[in-house]
Amino acid sequence: MKEFILNNGVKIPAVGLGVFRVNDANAAYETVKSALSVGYRHIDTAMIYGNEEEVGKAIKDSRVPRQEIFLTTKLWNDDQRSGKVKEALDASLERLGTNYVDLYLVHWPVRGTYVSVWKKMEEIYRAGKVKAIGVSNYHPHHLDDLLQEAEIVPAVNQIECYPYLAQEPLIKYCKEKGIYPEAWGPLGAGQSDILVHPVVTEIAKKYNKSAAQIVLRWNLERGVIVIPKSVHKERQIENLTISNFQLTDTEVKQISSLNKDLRLGSDPDNFNF
Ligand code: NAD
Repeated sequence: MKEFILNNGVKIPAVGLGVFRVNDANAAYETVKSALSVGYRHIDTAMIYGNEEEVGKAIKDSRVPRQEIFLTTKLWNDDQRSGKVKEALDASLERLGTNYVDLYLVHWPVRGTYVSVWKKMEEIYRAGKVKAIGVSNYHPHHLDDLLQEAEIVPAVNQIECYPYLAQEPLIKYCKEKGIYPEAWGPLGAGQSDILVHPVVTEIAKKYNKSAAQIVLRWNLERGVIVIPKSVHKERQIENLTISNFQLTDTEVKQISSLNKDLRLGSDPDNFNF
């Protein structure tokens, strides 16, 4: 399993399982158990997904040692506004049934709080309950504000990223600052025709891979972590099995050229939940 190394030396499996919109308790439990059984060692959840408890239970019941699993959860916006960062983390840990997470992310930039929230993220990092801290949905201007005051550079920026939203400038910015880019919605979130685009399907044919495997591999080639979601074991296996082939630079560029800055999710500048 391919791993990347974050700016504090922590290793992160390059492919993880996302569990957004796996809300039914049993589905979340079964999805994570299935993923761990087929070899996933990286799970991405969030307080707001409402499934931390089931994720934690599945991890426990999987019998995979906790320390072999890279677990991410996220700080929701209300907890940023109230400044209750430590309390929010403790509640997540309680639900997850663990005493640490591998990565704790600020879920969205909440205007006016970036710096104060980050200071509290730094405190919980120093207290040892999280192996790494990062942000999500941050544009460069959010990161500029944060980095002016930060003592710890975020390890990760988790952003919407698939070929129609290739995010080249943001990825370049993050890499220059030592922040690992991580792609959410890497398959187009089930709402895009990217998996039937001829450029992708032609490359898929060449390698005898699926279109999903090609767009995931495209991100890995660019040094971007991916966290595709699937509740189906066969697709989980498919999405994980992307280390046994490589795309050429030309193919990576061909896929990147499909970019049309098309967001399927919210623009972080207008997200105010
Ligand atoms: P995704 O791009 O991973 O798409 C998931 C959908 O793609 C599935 O529901 C299914 O319809 C389809 N799919 C999965 N595997 C497939 C395959 N092999 N072939 C064909 N279709 C396939 O979208 P996502 O779930 O929105 O994003 C992934 C994860 O990112 C989430 O589960 C969550 O953990 C995270 N996320 C984070 C944020 C954030 O704000 N930080 C926002 C959204 C999602």
